[in-house]
Amino acid sequence: MLIDLHCDTIYSLWNDPEKGSLLSSSLSVDRKKLIDGGVLGQCFALFVPMHEHVPEKHIEKTPWEILEELHDIFIRETAAAGIPQMRKAADLENGSLHAILTTEEGASIEGDISRLSTLRDWGVKIFGLTWNYENELGYPNSSDPMVMAEGLKEKGIEAVEECGRLGIIVDVSHLSDGGFMDAVRFAHGPVIATHSDARAVTDVSRNLADEELRLLADRGGVTGLNLCPAFLHDEKALSEDDAESNISDMVRHVMHIYRTAGEDVLAIGTDFDGIYGRLEIPSSDKLFLLRDALGKEGIPESVLDKMWYGNALRVFRDAERS
Ligand SMILES: [Zn+2]
Repeated sequence: MLIDLHCDTIYSLWNDPEKGSLLSSSLSVDRKKLIDGGVLGQCFALFVPMHEHVPEKHIEKTPWEILEELHDIFIRETAAAGIPQMRKAADLENGSLHAILTTEEGASIEGDISRLSTLRDWGVKIFGLTWNYENELGYPNSSDPMVMAEGLKEKGIEAVEECGRLGIIVDVSHLSDGGFMDAVRFAHGPVIATHSDARAVTDVSRNLADEELRLLADRGGVTGLNLCPAFLHDEKALSEDDAESNISDMVRHVMHIYRTAGEDVLAIGTDFDGIYGRLEIPSSDKLFLLRDALGKEGIPESVLDKMWYGNALRVFRDAERS
C-alpha cells in the first residue's frame, strides 16, 4: 500500500490533452500504474502556473480561473477512470485506490482567504502556500538569502490559520525558510512538506534543513520523498532529459531524514509528471525497488509501512481532528 503526497498529472493533462487520460496515458500516473503500484491514495495537485510559466493559450486567464479549470479536469478524469475522491481519511480503510485533491501555488486564491472555504467544499486536503514565486501569501525558497529569510505575509498567516479551521493541511514545500517557520508557528493542525528532500544531503533551497525536518516531526508532520534529479544529487546533467534520478540517491536522503528526524516524518511525494530525466523509478508500480533497497539498509518493515502510507494517513486523520 502507498500514499503518494504529490504529482502534477492533472496539470500535465490540462496543459497537453494529447498526453491521454487518467485511464491510460504516456504519463507516470494513470489508473493501471496506480493499481499495479498498490496505491491507496494518490494526491493530485492542482498546480496553477504563474508569470512566464503560464502557457500561451491560457495567458488571458486569471489564477482562479485556471484553478477552476484544473478542478474540472480532476473531476472529469477521476470519474472517467473510476477513481473515487477521498473525502475523509476513513475512505482509505477499505484498501481501494482513492484520488486525494491538493493545490500548489497559493496565488490561485488571489489573496481572497474566503476562497479556502470553496477549496474545502471541493474536498481539497492540502494547500501549498507558494510555488517558486512571491505571491500574496509569502515568498518562495531561493538561493538569495534575503528572500529565503522572508516570513509569511499577513495574508499568508491568515491563510494558515484559516486552513487550520477548515481542516486543510498546510504544505511548506517550495516555501522560504522564514515562511516555513511562520507556518509552523501559526498552524493549528499538522504542517507537511509534500515533496521535499534533505538539504544536508543535496544543498538546494528546495530541500529542507535538518532543523526543519525536526520541526516537522515535532508538529506531527511529514516530508514526502521527491524523486526529482535536481533535489537528489548535485551532478549537473547536459540537459533536463539526461538528469538521473537514482535509487541510491533516494536511499541517502531517506537514511538522513530517518536518522535526523525519526521514523514518523517519512513519507513519499514522488512529484511524478512534474519531473523529467532518466527516472529509475518512472511510476509508482516501480517503487517496490526503493522499498527493497531501504530494507537492505536495515530499515525495518514496520518503518517502511509508515513511510509508504502510515504516516500520511495519520496526518490526514489528525487534520480532521484539529
Ligand atoms: Zn512542486
